[in-house]
Amino acid sequence: MCHILNEKIPICRTCQNEMRPKFIKLKAEGHNATSIYDYNPFIKKLIYQYKGCYDYELNKAFISMFAKEIKLRYSGYVVIPVPSYKKEDEERGFNHVVEIYKNLGLTMLEILEKTEKHKQAISTVNSRHKVYKYLALSAHPDLRKKKVLLVDDVYTTGSTIKSAINLVEKLNPKRIEVLVIAKTKPKQTNTN
Ligand SMILES: [Zn+2]
Repeated sequence: MCHILNEKIPICRTCQNEMRPKFIKLKAEGHNATSIYDYNPFIKKLIYQYKGCYDYELNKAFISMFAKEIKLRYSGYVVIPVPSYKKEDEERGFNHVVEIYKNLGLTMLEILEKTEKHKQAISTVNSRHKVYKYLALSAHPDLRKKKVLLVDDVYTTGSTIKSAINLVEKLNPKRIEVLVIAKTKPKQTNTN
């Protein structure tokens, strides 16, 4: 896609400018959510190259430019990534969401898991409930004194994030916020 000019940020200035970060404010189940970018064609292509073409080095392309600011903003939060199916991670060789947000240097708890892939295809009526069914807590740490930052790559309908919120709420954290890389507009379709 472009030349590597900087070890920390594997894309050049020109491409960085095309990414156009916006830090869009959203609400998810009443909690504050932020989308760093909108799902513009450049971001879409970059996410595809990273997630779909397994271009691992791009994990640093999305948030490393403002990792310090984000880390400060969410100081004291524990990061909980929205999971992928284990088989997809195994095929890719890495979990794309985990690798992006590791760059923040905040404590990460991988306590959500995704199971039963086929459920996604059937989810028509009462879809939120169905999504809820294929996300699960894989551990129950004591989060009562913690603030939680739920993170994901693409926010489409928000149903996955909402299910993740509902599960994490069971652990009674002090606060939940959400951070995603890109939010699609209603018209835009996505594999998520
Ligand atoms: Zn470039």
